[in-house]
Amino acid sequence: MTQTTPPTLPATIHRRGLMLVMSSPSGAGKTTISRALLARDDGIAMSVSATTRAPRPGEVDGQDYYFVPVPRFQEMVEAGEFLEHAKVFDNYYGTPRGPVEAVLSQGRDVMFDIDWQGTQQLRQTARADLVSVFVLPPSVAELERRLHSRAQDSAEVVAKRMAKAGDEMSHWPEYDYIIVNVDVEQSIANVQAILTAERLKRERQVGMHDFVTRLRGLD
Ligand code: 5GP
Repeated sequence: MTQTTPPTLPATIHRRGLMLVMSSPSGAGKTTISRALLARDDGIAMSVSATTRAPRPGEVDGQDYYFVPVPRFQEMVEAGEFLEHAKVFDNYYGTPRGPVEAVLSQGRDVMFDIDWQGTQQLRQTARADLVSVFVLPPSVAELERRLHSRAQDSAEVVAKRMAKAGDEMSHWPEYDYIIVNVDVEQSIANVQAILTAERLKRERQVGMHDFVTRLRGLD
C-alpha cells in the first residue's frame, strides 16, 4: 500500500511573529490562562519580565521573573535593555528586549503578562505586531475570593491589589479583545481562537502575494 504524505504549507510562506499581550487586574485568572496556552501551543513563548519585587513562595528566578535589585533595574533602563517598563504596586517591572526580538525573528509568537502602562508603550513601538487581550473577573466578590485563595500574599497586599483593581480595569477599552473569565477552560479556548485568527491575518503571512501569483499562473 502506498502512503500519501499530507501536503505542507509552501516553503515560500512564512509567518511574522505576533506579540500577544494579556492584561488584567491581579486575581482575574490571567496567569492560569497563559500557562495553559503555553503548554498547549508550541508556537508561542512567554516573555519573562524583570522585577524589583521579592519572589513569592514557589516562584523561580529566570522562570517566573528575573528578580533584580533596584540599582540593576535602573542600569537596565539606562542601557535601553527594556522594550517597556513601568512601576506597578510600588515595584518596577520591565520586559527585556533581547529574548523577544529573538523569538519574533524566528517567526514564533511571544506572550506578555504586563499591565496597561506597558501595553500602551508597546502599542507605540510595535503597533502592527500587537494583539491585546484584557481579562476581566466575573464579579468583584470573585476577584477578592481568588486573591485570598492564592494565599501567597499578605492581607495588606491583597487589600492593596483590590484597591488597584478598579484602576487597572478602567483601561479595558484600550484592548483589542475582552474575555470575562467565568470558566477557565472556555477562556483558554477563547484565547486560542484569537491566536488562530490573528495568525491567519493576511498581513502576517509573508510571501503570500508571490504564492498566489504563482497559483494563478501569472508567474
Ligand atoms: P505580580 O507582582 O502579581 O506578578 O504582577 C503585578 C502586575 O505587574 C501584573 O498586572 C502584571 O501584569 C504586571 N507586570 C508583570 N511584568 C510586567 C512587565 O514587564 N511590564 C509591565 N508594564 N507590567 C508587568
